Amino acid sequence: MAIREIVTHPNSILRRKARKVEKFDQEIQNLIEDMIETMRAEPGVGLAAPQVAVPLRLIVVEYGEEENPDIPPKLYVMANPEIIRSSQATELGVEGCLSIPGFVGEVERSAEIVVRGQNRYGKPMKVKAKGWLARIFQHEIDHLNGVLFIDRTDKVWKLEEEKDTAQVTVSD
Ligand code: ZN
Repeated sequence: MAIREIVTHPNSILRRKARKVEKFDQEIQNLIEDMIETMRAEPGVGLAAPQVAVPLRLIVVEYGEEENPDIPPKLYVMANPEIIRSSQATELGVEGCLSIPGFVGEVERSAEIVVRGQNRYGKPMKVKAKGWLARIFQHEIDHLNGVLFIDRTDKVWKLEEEKDTAQVTVSD
């Protein structure tokens, strides 16, 4: 396993539509292991293959409920994910992206979704998600279509610098 380098905006790799995963061979298993390791090292709650410069429809998500620290985070690996149902109800939330370090934005997402795809061995799988988990899936699936969170909002801001730097942050 290895930690892979994360591609950052405005690299054009992030803007391409990713290809379907067709073969669930050893190469894809290695990629999945590397993506999990890279996500955990950052740390992040999700990662899409184009973010490590591989133009395939593959995502990893690992998220635990903050209100429930006793329940360990659940790991999802999904190839060829497709949102087959999304609620009309939406939620606003502040999200960031490993490919846009230092920035966050307020993004409106469906509150609940159903995602269909394949597991790491190519078997069909379906995930029902709501709240933050639904947000993460929507964010990662966007990456497979060349879409970044900054495309979905005009409320983007830079995270505050460390206090000991000379930078002055003005906000209102
Ligand atoms: Zn992202």
